[in-house]
Formats: sequence, C-alpha cells, structure tokens
Amino acid sequence: MATRAARAERIQGILEDLYPEVPIPLDHTDPFTLLIAVVLSAQTTDKKVNEVTPALFARAPEPRSMAALDPEEVRALIRVIGLAPTKARNLVGLSQQILDLHDGQVPHTFEELEALPGVGHKTASVVMSQAFGVPAFPVDTHIHRLATRWGLSSGKNVEATERDLKRVFPRETWNRLHLQIIFFGREHCPARHHDLAACPICSFAATGVRKRAEAVRNQPGRRA
Ligand code: SF4
Repeated sequence: MATRAARAERIQGILEDLYPEVPIPLDHTDPFTLLIAVVLSAQTTDKKVNEVTPALFARAPEPRSMAALDPEEVRALIRVIGLAPTKARNLVGLSQQILDLHDGQVPHTFEELEALPGVGHKTASVVMSQAFGVPAFPVDTHIHRLATRWGLSSGKNVEATERDLKRVFPRETWNRLHLQIIFFGREHCPARHHDLAACPICSFAATGVRKRAEAVRNQPGRRA
C-alpha cells in the first residue's frame, strides 16, 4: 500500500489538474466583508450566503455601520439562512469589538480573530488564509470525512485531521488545497451511489477496509 505521503502527493496532483484555479466561493470586497460572509456560512451553503450579502453589505459595508445596526434589522436581512438570530447578534457584536479593540480593522492573528463573537478556529483559519494569505488548513466535517476516506488522517476530530493534513502537505499549498478539496467534494461526493473504481481519488486512495465500508455505505438507500 502506498505511504500516506505518496498518496497525498498523488491526490494533490489530481486536485491541481481538476482545479487549477481556486476562486474564493464567498463574495466579498475586503477582509471585513469576507469575515462577515464566513460567519454567515456556518451550517448553510455559500450560494445562500452570496444571495443575502449584497443587501447586507449595501446597508453596512464596514464595522462602524454594522455595529450601529439593530440585530433585528440584521436578522431580517439574513433571515433566509440558518441560525439567523444568533448570527445577527454575532455580526453586530464582532463589529463593535473590531471598533473597540482593533481600530476598525479585522485583526490578523488567530487569537484575536477567535476572540470575536461567532468566530471559531475554522472561521479564523478561512479569514487568515483567504483575506491575509497566511497558510492555514480550515477543516470542516466534509474535509474531515474525505481526509479519513483518502487515508490522509486517522484523526478522530477536526483538530487532529487539521494536524495530519498540515503534516502531509507542503505548507505553501495548504490554502489552495483547502479550496480544491471543497470543490472536489461538492462536485463528486454528494452522489448517493459511489462507484469507487471510477472515482478519481477513492479508486486508489481508499484502503481495503475503507473500500469494504464504502461498499456497505453505498448500498442503495444509504447516503455517501
Ligand atoms: S468515492 Fe465517493 S467519497 Fe470517495 S472521493 Fe469519490 S466521490 Fe468522494
């Protein structure tokens, strides 16, 4: 069986071929609007976020105007996405904190970002990576699941998977790979009945044990 490093190199080559361009999926114009969009994207789709942010950013394009809004007004502007009441409160709260503690600028450190309301490690990683170009590997449940299927991690949780992925891929490729894995997952992995042999990655990356588990999981009526 190929080593984890060899498997990673092959997967990276496939993802590079499939996705040479890695556009950021959330519409934004600067670090603040990206941060807002990423906070909104929890437990919903980027497409839905991109539908609500034009009206939100027209009303409040920077921290001062966002902090001045009533959370109820924000909630009304984002109501079609999940967890709207909590997210509305967080958007107003994080904008106020950016004004109070960071001179109105989105902070550049994980510690400061993760201290903002509604911002966890994954959100902070996306902002560090996509707004500031700092190498990071944001891992959500989808990337966690794929990293396990592809034999790149034996991590029991997203934190362990992040550590494994950072070990196995070169640091300068983390920001691209995070997006490439997301694009691959969206394009290939939601299908119900996976043909492991036909899949560009699982055909060689899934181990025997995983293949047997996949065969069971992909029986008609079971989700991928
Ligand atoms: S077999 Fe399914 S889960 Fe594995 S990479 Fe292909 S599409 Fe994704």
